[in-house]
Amino acid sequence: MIEVKNLSKRYGQNVALNNINFSVEKGTIVGFLGPNGAGKSTTMNIITGYLSASSGSVTVGGYNTLDNPNEVKKLIGYLPELPPLYPDMTVKEYLNFLFDLKKVTLPRKKHLEQICALTEITDVYDRLINNLSKGYKQRVGLAQALLGNPPVLILDEPTVGLDPKQIIEIRNLIHNLGKNHTIILSSHILPEIQAVCERIIIINRGKLVADGTPDSLSRSLSEDNRITVRMEGGEAEVSKALRGMKDIVSVQTLGEKEPGVFEYSVEACENCDPRRDLFRLAAKNNWPILEMKNAGLSLEDVFLRLTASAYIEDNTGKETEKEDEEA
Ligand code: ADP
Ligand code: MG
Repeated sequence: MIEVKNLSKRYGQNVALNNINFSVEKGTIVGFLGPNGAGKSTTMNIITGYLSASSGSVTVGGYNTLDNPNEVKKLIGYLPELPPLYPDMTVKEYLNFLFDLKKVTLPRKKHLEQICALTEITDVYDRLINNLSKGYKQRVGLAQALLGNPPVLILDEPTVGLDPKQIIEIRNLIHNLGKNHTIILSSHILPEIQAVCERIIIINRGKLVADGTPDSLSRSLSEDNRITVRMEGGEAEVSKALRGMKDIVSVQTLGEKEPGVFEYSVEACENCDPRRDLFRLAAKNNWPILEMKNAGLSLEDVFLRLTASAYIEDNTGKETEKEDEEA
């Protein structure tokens, strides 16, 4: 449904996007995850045709955004980072205004009723947008994106600034919309993305650094050669024996976790799986293994690891290009 090929974007000297490639199948919900300034909004603005790329191409439903911008816009409902709301219109006036602007051909009354029911804004239909809470404003923004029933929805940080209850409501709404739409949504918060997306694309400093299901991402980066093991037995003896095992690179004692039971972090050389040798060693010495697990990474670890360079460089103040976005 969406094909992004070799996409790059420069703002003057600043490279905001560096050769991004991905495609999105019809009917999936894809999460765009990355720290602030990663390039999420830039990518979304290019996909929706509101910004031009420096190089590369985007097609939506087979239409190239450059050659057929109007066709592409018809296929996409877009909720930008700052929804384009007119505060001195009522919700009704605003949605009717955009209905005309977008030249929607569906039966007006029925379509607007459906959208309002879906986004749960029917009870504020006659109120001024200016007087609505942030959560309601966001839902009016979503309603605007749904006008004309476009098959693709692009939602830029749809839950930013909402309280936890509103976040859950918007999340559920997006989840439901996902049944009939292809959705890309962005966030800098992992749990946000994890809760609704089948696939996660992580971008950092303009580069795509990971792309996969939440499970596959944490699996691909977890390491079989690092094991945490809890064994009953004298710490000195056990750690000495562990160090003496074949292919072991390092052993660290993590402390006494139960009386007489210590936990150890054991790292074997790359591509070595020490679990079977650990079992044999423990059995031979009668040191019961009470727990053994792969020191695998959670998705949170994966995200932090993949995007760590941005934070480290920020903290040292070496990077000056990442000023607050003004957008
Ligand atoms: P995100 O949405 O992931 O927070 P953006 O796409 O907004 O990131 O920004 C990516 C990079 O491009 C940042 O370094 C940002 O400062 C820069 N940038 C964004 N918009 C502009 C602009 N209009 N002019 C110059 N630089 C910009
Ligand atoms: Mg952004």
